[in-house]
Amino acid sequence: MIILMGVPGSGKGTQGKRLAEERALSYLSTGDMLRQYASPEQHERIVKGHLLRDDEIITMVDGALNSMDDPNQSLFDGFPRSVGQTEWLLKQADVGRIESPCVLLLDISKDEVKKRLLLRGRSDDIPEVIEKRFAEYDTVTAPVLDYLKQKHVPVYEIDAAQSPEAVYSSIVECLAGIKGE
Ligand code: AMP
Repeated sequence: MIILMGVPGSGKGTQGKRLAEERALSYLSTGDMLRQYASPEQHERIVKGHLLRDDEIITMVDGALNSMDDPNQSLFDGFPRSVGQTEWLLKQADVGRIESPCVLLLDISKDEVKKRLLLRGRSDDIPEVIEKRFAEYDTVTAPVLDYLKQKHVPVYEIDAAQSPEAVYSSIVECLAGIKGE
């Protein structure tokens, strides 16, 4: 299974949807699910730029995994986003529910993504909220990378400042290298 990580606006959704479609992978975006199913109270926290709690997210992902034909053939976008979520996911791999994941990190500077987010104009893409989401990334999500290293989960960095087409090519090249295609 493939996990896409990166700061908000790094292109996870764009790249993830395309990759999932071209490789017939089940695409799971916790952000998309929440935009569809979040309660009004959860929506309020999301538009303020807060991450939701691990238990809320894990319940949702657990259900999504149950309804997938083949959880191994899946691509996760925006999950895991905390060390707690990562612990849970790696436990699922330990018990054989999913194969051990490989992580693609979409690497791009915050200045560059800020410009992109302001163009995108989602309800959580206003300047103060963007700052809050970056702060959440730094404090809650960035430690996931160290945790993955500690657990020997491979993390591949992709230069996400390139054009969407070039980023996609880099992803395909990277995956080909991993699989020795
Ligand atoms: P995204 O579309 O991935 O940027 O997610 C939009 C928002 O949904 C985030 O800013 C969070 O508020 C919430 N969210 C999505 N995925 C997660 C997650 N794995 N953990 C906590 N909150 C999440």
